[in-house]
Amino acid sequence: MTDTFKDLDHPPRLLMGPGPINVHPRVLRAMSVQLLGQFDPEFTGYMNETMALYRQVFQTQNRWTFLVDGTSRAGIEAALVSVLAPGDDVVVVNAGRFGLLLSEIAERCDARVTLVEGEWGKVIDPQAVEDAVARVKPRLVACVHGDTSTTMAQPIEAIGEICRRHDALLYVDATATLAGMPCPVDQWQADIVTAGLQKCLGGPSGSAPITISDRAAEHIAGRKHVERGIATAGAVSGAGRRIASNYFDLAMIMDYWSDKRLNHHTEAASMLYAARECARVALEEGLDARFARHASAGAAVVAGVEAMGLSVYGDPAHKMTNVTGIWIPAGIDGDRVRARMRTEFEIEIGTAFGPLTGKIWRIGAMGVNARKHAVLTTLAALEAVLRWEGFSATPGAGVDAAAKVYS
Ligand SMILES: *Cc1c(COP(=O)(O)O)cnc(C)c1O
Repeated sequence: MTDTFKDLDHPPRLLMGPGPINVHPRVLRAMSVQLLGQFDPEFTGYMNETMALYRQVFQTQNRWTFLVDGTSRAGIEAALVSVLAPGDDVVVVNAGRFGLLLSEIAERCDARVTLVEGEWGKVIDPQAVEDAVARVKPRLVACVHGDTSTTMAQPIEAIGEICRRHDALLYVDATATLAGMPCPVDQWQADIVTAGLQKCLGGPSGSAPITISDRAAEHIAGRKHVERGIATAGAVSGAGRRIASNYFDLAMIMDYWSDKRLNHHTEAASMLYAARECARVALEEGLDARFARHASAGAAVVAGVEAMGLSVYGDPAHKMTNVTGIWIPAGIDGDRVRARMRTEFEIEIGTAFGPLTGKIWRIGAMGVNARKHAVLTTLAALEAVLRWEGFSATPGAGVDAAAKVYS
């Protein structure tokens, strides 16, 4: 008995990085609700409710709006592997860490990947996307909406319009923005959009909401019954090749979420409860109120760090409201600051990736943490740690400036 591990009793930590974030108490409660059999009418009723709720969250009429079991990446992978057959052309907007992930997954589908490269900290010029699409005539264009690695929100509506005009499908990763910034799927003319719970939706990671237009669903369903042996070698048409993954075969997952209820996986009931509650909480607040709350939290973070004498990373005109990149000042050890934020204040802020490693911190204000107390507490702690590390910030300036945004 002496070898057993202790209870999970870490101190409550304020998660102010780019995700995961603290989970809404109602979502935690929903996750502790007893399970039901996956074909129990009460449970399939919850599945249908979840579909209806996420149509509202995604601002779409798409019939096919449901959950992929797994983290956000499961939604991304399901979308790409279900659309892209070997040899298909895909144009990927690569303007951050998650753009790179899209191209990596598309390559694993043996698709022919054309990258439209964007500078980190800026948004893509839609004309560059149009040029690539006109040249390649891809089956799919894939783009991240808000890439937390760069804190930029890409102009999806312009890209959607280009895709429609050139008859390409559009996939969008809205993991970091859904329910925090407007993600009007139908207005975007996006065909597949996926997300996760651990950002603005205020839940744990482990469920990936997805929405699929009829034209994308038709293409995916068309790949369903094709057997491996029938496809001609090197077939370019998506209809010529079976979807390469069973778990992420959206045609099969749609059959499971349809009235047919064809068995596929065992729906992750506790995660479905969580996803359903995240959507209920978001819609009760109202999407517009929620977007405004994330916007004011983001504005308060920006005002606070600038008043401390720090600089905000990236193009302010296209900055995501829910994540802020902050240049680490010269002579300050970014990792030490993050460590002291945690050990002295129980607050987590984010580090950075790739070209920004060691150069910026990222502070997220998302879900339940897009609130005044969380922002003010984080700024007060950051200022104290910075002073202890030898940076001269006027005491109280950051909190005062942030509080003013709220008054
Ligand atoms: C956070 C984030 C993800 C995370 O994927 P997980 O599989 O849930 O870790 C994916 N895409 C974007 C744009 C993100 O910001």
